[in-house]
Amino acid sequence: MCGIVGYIGSKDCVPLLINSLKRLEYRGYDSAGLGVISNGESQVIKRKGKVSVLEKDLDQITLKQPNLGIAHTRWATHGVPNEVNAHPHFNTDKSLFVIHNGIIENYLTIRKGLQSLGYDFITDTDSEVIPQLIDSFLKKGYALVKAVHLALSKIEGTYGLAIVYANEPDKLIAARKGSPLVIGVGNNENFVASDVSAIIAHTKHVVYLEDGEIAEIYKDKFYTRTLDEEIIDKEVHKITMTLDEIDKGGYDHFMLKEIMEQPLSVCNSMRGRLIADKGTSKLGGLEAVEDKLVQSKRIVLSACGTSWHAALAGEYMLEQHTRIQTEVEYASEFRYRNPIISPDDVMFFISQSGETADTLAALREAKIRGALVLGICNVVGSSIPRETHAGVYTHAGPEIGVASTKAFTSQLVILALITLNLARKRNMSLIDGKNIVKEMDLLPKKIEQILKLNEQIEEIAEEFKDAENFLYLGRGYNFPVALEGALKLKEISYIHAEGYPAAEMKHGPIALIEEKLPSIFIAPQDSTYEKIITNIQEVKARKGRVIAIASESDKNIDSLVDFSIKIPETIRMLMPILSVIPLQLLAYHIAVKKGLNVDQPRNLAKSVTVE
Ligand code: GLU
Repeated sequence: MCGIVGYIGSKDCVPLLINSLKRLEYRGYDSAGLGVISNGESQVIKRKGKVSVLEKDLDQITLKQPNLGIAHTRWATHGVPNEVNAHPHFNTDKSLFVIHNGIIENYLTIRKGLQSLGYDFITDTDSEVIPQLIDSFLKKGYALVKAVHLALSKIEGTYGLAIVYANEPDKLIAARKGSPLVIGVGNNENFVASDVSAIIAHTKHVVYLEDGEIAEIYKDKFYTRTLDEEIIDKEVHKITMTLDEIDKGGYDHFMLKEIMEQPLSVCNSMRGRLIADKGTSKLGGLEAVEDKLVQSKRIVLSACGTSWHAALAGEYMLEQHTRIQTEVEYASEFRYRNPIISPDDVMFFISQSGETADTLAALREAKIRGALVLGICNVVGSSIPRETHAGVYTHAGPEIGVASTKAFTSQLVILALITLNLARKRNMSLIDGKNIVKEMDLLPKKIEQILKLNEQIEEIAEEFKDAENFLYLGRGYNFPVALEGALKLKEISYIHAEGYPAAEMKHGPIALIEEKLPSIFIAPQDSTYEKIITNIQEVKARKGRVIAIASESDKNIDSLVDFSIKIPETIRMLMPILSVIPLQLLAYHIAVKKGLNVDQPRNLAKSVTVE
């Protein structure tokens, strides 16, 4: 959540910070702000709304050539999104600016203590205690770095921080506990950012801060220390992400670009990982733990949101083909009960960003309990891959649209590759393995074919854009797809939608069926086809309208349903990778037709780094 960027160097940092902030806007966009310093003078500007609103008023900054500054795009946790609550927050004389991502859990106690010392608070945020607390140590005569250390020793909660101080204009401070931060290492200039996309236009060299680390950044050097002030040497990583990858590439929205990219992203997820002649897969990231994985008695897949839906499909894949007992856990619930996890268990944590706070917390809990913890993540070098024993990157490329699309299909591909690998080492025949490899190879072409249905799906969207509720129904492997289709629609079109196993409909949701309620059935010709046709009949008998995602060879379904979207077939395990794509397009077109911002839906943010 929230985007942080900071600069120290010789350039005028205002345009640079604004451009970087725009690249981070997918992380939060309810308000934005900027604090800059030049020759010991400081200035701050904040606005409610998007970065573009802030940008319009930048001429109010009168400082000449500020070359030290920090900027923020907020996703509010404490206090409504307005100008006052926007970051940076500051001390009374506005010489110290702080930008914060995360939640300060003991802020009320700290605030009371500071108020008794005469400090006034002007915002409703938890974050404002940070500059005021640092200020209280500065007033005691401590230098900035020491004052930050002392303040952080009193703070409980999570933070990614960027701090600048007009009286020490040679440095920028960054600190991390629970919220991602990277230092961008430039040529006589340095950066700090909550993710690399903000700074790749300026440098490809980054240092990932770990939890409990504080960085003191000058324009030509930096030092990193633990909270106990011990110096730590950090490795500089070279990143391969390019600017093209994070641009819209001619599409109106990132979401559409990312949907359309799926033939390539799915291909990239499989690249070099399928071994056709042996009918298996090779996953370098898991080789070190392969024996334990193959022999495991129980696998637990843990995730949130869309990744949780991928996990559910993964459970079906693993149980069908490896016969290893598999369970799926909401990462957000995992720590709040007493889950049975033993050192014999293998747990996979699935997250696009690799920073999802709930998933990271669940991973730490599982580690304490001795489980082998593995990751399936998209963002290279993010927290989950760094904290797991081993894992697999999805290699879907940067995903900017808040509603996840290509990351989901790539997660499914990785789960299929893991399933294939384990199954072949346990009980799957060469012939069956080769068949899966063959079908996986065909996926990119089949996705291309489905994407050609874009216009037909847009017409269906026109027909249903004013519906107030939707039901999404599927059986077996297509039940997780029903959940995911409903989530996509909710996220970006704000239409209420529910995903259900098709057979569950008669146990409750059938009461909702009437002429105005569209039901979307994911009904490919697989082993559950006959049953799902019965469910469709049940809806039609009650005058409900039906859209079916059906097999291209299915000639009969058209007479039963109002609209059918015909997609190519594949084996059951891989079907979700195909059947979800029309649902992504449908949600996209409905939201666009309703005039909504599909890339930045209200209340949501990409990479949920708060619990
Ligand atoms: N808790 C802080 C606030 O509500 C941080 C928000 C953020 O991470 O954007 O302002």
